[in-house]
Amino acid sequence: MFDFFKMIHYKTSSEVEIMRESALLVSKTLAAVAEMLRPGISTLEVDAFAEQFILDHGAIPSFKNYKGFPFTCCISVNDAVVHGFPSDRKLQNGDLVSVDAGVFKNGYHGDSAYTFAIGEVSDEVKKLMRVTKDALQLGVEKAIAGNRVGDISFAVQDHAERKHKYGVVRELVGHGLGRKLHEDPQVPNYGKRGSGPKLNDGLVIAIEPMINMGVKEVWYDDDGWTVRTKDGLPAAHYEHTVCVRRGKADVLSSFAEIEAAEKANPALCADY
Ligand code: MG
Ligand code: MG
Repeated sequence: MFDFFKMIHYKTSSEVEIMRESALLVSKTLAAVAEMLRPGISTLEVDAFAEQFILDHGAIPSFKNYKGFPFTCCISVNDAVVHGFPSDRKLQNGDLVSVDAGVFKNGYHGDSAYTFAIGEVSDEVKKLMRVTKDALQLGVEKAIAGNRVGDISFAVQDHAERKHKYGVVRELVGHGLGRKLHEDPQVPNYGKRGSGPKLNDGLVIAIEPMINMGVKEVWYDDDGWTVRTKDGLPAAHYEHTVCVRRGKADVLSSFAEIEAAEKANPALCADY
C-alpha cells in the first residue's frame, strides 16, 4: 500500500520479517556494546567495535555517512541528548551514555538506542533512565492500528513531562523507516491524543523519547551534530523499531539481550 500524499510506505509481512532481522542486529550490537562499556574506555573505541560487529554480521552501519555523519554510532554522554560524536574522551564513573545505532541489511534499516549508566549514578539519574524507558513502553503500547501518531506522542509526553516534570525535546522526533532510515511519518514525543496521521497495519516506525532531566531546550555543539541540553543537565534516550499491528504493536528490536548484558557487567548500573 502506498499513500501518495503522506508518502507513507506500509510494509508487507515479509518486509517486516526482513526489518526484524535488521532491528535485532542493532539490539545484538547494543548488547555487545553493553558488555564492553567501563570506565577508561573511549567512545571512539566503542564506535570502532560496533562498526566491525555490524560489518561482521553482513550489514552496513546506517548512520555512517548519512548526511555526512562520520561514525557508526551516535554516542551521547551526560548533557548530550542525541547525535553525539564518539571521541577519545574516556568514560568515567557516573557518566550517562546513550548509544544509538542503525543497520542496513537486505535492503532495510533497523534503528534502536539505549542509555547506560557507568558505575554509580545518582538516584535522580536512575529515575530519568527509568522514566524515559517507561515513556518508550507507553508509546509502544499506543502503536496499534486505528490510533493516530498523536496517541503515541501524547503517551510519551504525558508520562515524562506532565507526570515527572522532565523536558521533552521538541527539535528531534521519531520517524518511519524501511528502505530509508527516515521515512514518513514523523513521530514526535509531544502532541495531542487523536491528532496526526492514522496508524495502519504494517507501518514501521522508530519510537524514541529524548528526555531531559531539566529544561526541554537544546543547542547544537560546534561539531554541527551533537545536541546538548541548554541547562547542562543529563538526558536519556531509548528507541525501538516497532511495527504497527491490530490489537498489539510488534516490537522488532529487543532490549532483552541488552538488559542481560547490562546486569552481567559490573561496570554498569543496572538497578534503576
Ligand atoms: Mg536511532
Ligand atoms: Mg531513530
